[in-house]
Amino acid sequence: MRILLTGAAGFLGSHLTDKLINEGHHVIGMDNFITGNEENLGHLAGNGKFSFIRHDVSNFILVTGKIDYVLHFASPASPNPASPLGYPNLPIQTLKAGALGTHNSLGVARAHNAKFLLASTSEIYGDPQEHPQKETYRGNVDPIGARSVYDEAKRFAEALTMAYHRFHQIDTRIVRIFNTFGPRMRLDDGRVVPNFIQQALRKEPLTIYGDGSQTRSFCYVSDLIDGIYKLMMSDYHEPVNLGNPNEISVIEFADLVNKTVDNTSGKIKKTAERLGNDPQRRQPDISRAKSILNWEPKISIQAGLEKTIPYFKKKMGI
Ligand code: NAD
Ligand code: UDP
Repeated sequence: MRILLTGAAGFLGSHLTDKLINEGHHVIGMDNFITGNEENLGHLAGNGKFSFIRHDVSNFILVTGKIDYVLHFASPASPNPASPLGYPNLPIQTLKAGALGTHNSLGVARAHNAKFLLASTSEIYGDPQEHPQKETYRGNVDPIGARSVYDEAKRFAEALTMAYHRFHQIDTRIVRIFNTFGPRMRLDDGRVVPNFIQQALRKEPLTIYGDGSQTRSFCYVSDLIDGIYKLMMSDYHEPVNLGNPNEISVIEFADLVNKTVDNTSGKIKKTAERLGNDPQRRQPDISRAKSILNWEPKISIQAGLEKTIPYFKKKMGI
């Protein structure tokens, strides 16, 4: 297939590009590098199965030649409001990528009679009151809260995808991705995995927001990419959760990172404040992915960290 992948220079987009090329497809990567990195695609220079278009998907997208599949991954991925460590956020760009970018990407799929897959997120469940989260749960999102730019953009993107499916008969898929980590993550996006790994490698205390009792469930990137490929090749139109159901509190995760990095000082530093609207618990119910895709993650958090830390060391020059 000839596949248009928006957000190809990002963490997930670049791994998905590799998977698609390995499976024999031709990938047209599209990105404006707002949070992505050219280096993530550097190894594909000269590869006949890859081409690249630098473009902001919030503007009309024109791609010539036949397109069989459109995968829409372009979006700044961190929902965090400005964090205590001062990382920037991109509120307007996030809303535009989810709304205008999804509209333009669906437009390409319609023009080419191509299939379409939307990268959605566990964030559409907001601060969940149902646990673990099934796809049928409708969520608990504050429409004007600190994370709303991301949550509502993705909720709109899902609604638009289903509207194109129902009204224009576009053959669509929606993946709801839960926290994923691995090599090629941005070092500076302020998220817990890059923060903790870098702090532990520098022998600094790990910054825990609040008391660290909040939970997440971390999936290693190769597991996620296998699940996305299976969903892409399925004919299932309803949203599918993909993530690792192994739930861990932030404080347990800090201990695990300190242990894995051999940060013998093993220190943590708690801040009084959590970020606005920070979900207290998050864990995917993956029964749908298990039954429809015959998929479940294989790589433990510990094993995933061991595969990820060398990437951070290299990037940090350690
Ligand atoms: P990332 O920031 O590494 O990648 C996103 C890519 O999209 C970047 O290369 C960025 O430059 C590009 N992009 C953003 N806005 C664009 C625009 N207007 N035009 C063109 N390109 C644009 O993030 P990621 O973690 O790889 O996330 C990829 C997708 O997966 C996003 O849609 C994100 O919401 C979704 N997602 C990721 C996670 C996760 O844990 N990583 C979880 C849930 C959902
Ligand atoms: N977090 C933390 N210290 C950090 C960065 C994040 O304690 O240096 C917490 C954050 O408050 C949240 C959890 O870790 O409860 C996961 O945050 P992240 O931004 O990685 O993902 P998300 O909240 O989007 O799931």
